[in-house]
Amino acid sequence: MKLMYRSTRDKSNRVTASQAVLQGLSPDGGLYVPETMPALARSIKELSAMDYRELAYEVMSLFLTDFTEEELKACISKAYDDKFDTPEIAPIRKVGDSYYLELYHGATIAFKDMALSILPHLLTTAARKNKVEDEIVILTATSGDTGKAALAGFADVEGTRIIVFYPKNGVSSVQEKQMVTQRGANTHVIGIRGNFDDAQTGVKRMFNNTELTERMKKAGYIFSSANSINIGRLVPQIVYYVYSYASLYKRNEISEGEKINFVVPTGNFGNILAAYYAKQIGLPVGKLICASNENRVLYDFFESGRYDKNREFIITESPSMDILVSSNLERLIYHISGDDPAKTAELMKALTNKGVYEISETMRKNLKDFVGGWASGEKMRRAIRDVYEESGYVIDTHTAVAASVYKDYAGETGDGTKTVIVSTASPYKFSNSVLAAIGTPDIPEDDYEQARLLKEISGTEIPKAVGELQTAPVVHNTVCDVDKMQSIVEEILKII
Ligand SMILES: *Cc1c(COP(=O)(O)O)cnc(C)c1O
Repeated sequence: MKLMYRSTRDKSNRVTASQAVLQGLSPDGGLYVPETMPALARSIKELSAMDYRELAYEVMSLFLTDFTEEELKACISKAYDDKFDTPEIAPIRKVGDSYYLELYHGATIAFKDMALSILPHLLTTAARKNKVEDEIVILTATSGDTGKAALAGFADVEGTRIIVFYPKNGVSSVQEKQMVTQRGANTHVIGIRGNFDDAQTGVKRMFNNTELTERMKKAGYIFSSANSINIGRLVPQIVYYVYSYASLYKRNEISEGEKINFVVPTGNFGNILAAYYAKQIGLPVGKLICASNENRVLYDFFESGRYDKNREFIITESPSMDILVSSNLERLIYHISGDDPAKTAELMKALTNKGVYEISETMRKNLKDFVGGWASGEKMRRAIRDVYEESGYVIDTHTAVAASVYKDYAGETGDGTKTVIVSTASPYKFSNSVLAAIGTPDIPEDDYEQARLLKEISGTEIPKAVGELQTAPVVHNTVCDVDKMQSIVEEILKII
């Protein structure tokens, strides 16, 4: 049976999985969601006998029903190969009483690799299936990690071109270096004088600009998105939730059917939404704990039912979570409204016009799986230090927000359910902050010297991605104002 996708804002926009992957965003501005929820077809015992790729096929084939087995398996094997530094792909580490799901063993040492290693293959396969011959232009706004992971995924993939916008002063120096040294003739990287939300808004505006897209079409281009609004990103992320459960079962840490919690360091709400989908398809999940940093708009939302982006944007040491408009929340809003596109459109319109919306009591009741929490910079740093002092294990600043939120949650509720802390970046990506949090004296200025120090402290190898930066030349140096984003794209595509 074919699973269809429809827009969160208009029921009549109904497409196949491959069309949804290809379009990214629905023409009405909504996001594509599955029309019905599939169900896991195998027992946990059967799933726990599979390796990551086999499990990826098992889960993704439930959602991407118009891809043939051969097509999907080809995408999976091109994505989850030795670009990852462990054959487990997403290993889980027991540290004290907690479990850390390490999603940072891919090419750019952050969790975005989990989905962005496969998206280019899903996208080019989807184009072929739908007889699209135009060149696919990936337009992406990044708060740091998406950009590099997307660049790495799409570099030199035939039939694609990728343009990445990042906040010039809103990413770490390693993140910036990773992007501006990206090779590949089809890659473009631009810093903007603004924050991540400015970048994301600018990109969305281009997607929704029909005059621009028509002009592109004439020149043989179509837009698509590598942002986490694309279901081609969301679906691969469901896999590792199932995989982590199956791994814990296999190691006799949990029994079949036992519920576990997930704590997810959250920004754009894509990662935690994938956990919600994993629960919907039948994975035994208890609470989904949404961890925010000082940009605690989601925490306030879960507390009050009111989403209010009208507040100061705070730059933190967990920059990939510095977001005031969490795009993927729209999908959750749609589901908790009872799949009501009119209601969703109304709330999203209020968000655009006033920056605020409030959900009904009934919708709030449907949020019962979720718990919000947030951690200040100080608490985040304390979590890094505590985990290190207790166990020698080193976590990055994003994972530390989750660890801190979990500690508070467990203390306040007494919930003893086994809990997985989703680890979204390697500590090597944020060496400076991590070393400082641990209390290292005399931290060297140089990124690579910092990595060497971290290696000594943590006893882990320096990832290839960090080593390579040492010598990579800067090849991208464009910086522009927010209102010049479109003209830059027009220049790149020569469609002025
Ligand atoms: C992107 C990112 C997040 C936030 O994930 P969302 O899916 O946007 O909520 C958290 N941590 C790191 C390291 C990231 O790169």
